[in-house]
Amino acid sequence: MLLIHCPYCEEKRPELEFRHAGEAHVARPADIANISDAEFAHYFFYRDNPKGVAYERWRHIHGCGRFFNAARDTISDKFLTTYKAGEPKPELVEAANENKAEAQKGNSAK
Ligand SMILES: [Zn+2]
Repeated sequence: MLLIHCPYCEEKRPELEFRHAGEAHVARPADIANISDAEFAHYFFYRDNPKGVAYERWRHIHGCGRFFNAARDTISDKFLTTYKAGEPKPELVEAANENKAEAQKGNSAK
């Protein structure tokens, strides 16, 4: 079973206690009442779908109930780190590249 680290409870808990809550770090436009429909649609509907490091919001719904952010590698499905909501986005490109290199090493060994 996948274990996810909750930065508030400070322990790894089973994935069944958590719920995905969308992309993290989506900034609401400052003057949202005066933006165009296209700009609003882009803010409201469009999300990144990266191959590699994705920054996501998660909620420890069957635990403390709090929202937090996670960096997850979409290739390996491994959580690289979790951090409290409001904390800055960690730069983890190198970690993702290491995972990619390990995955390629594993594929070439077959
Ligand atoms: Zn928690």
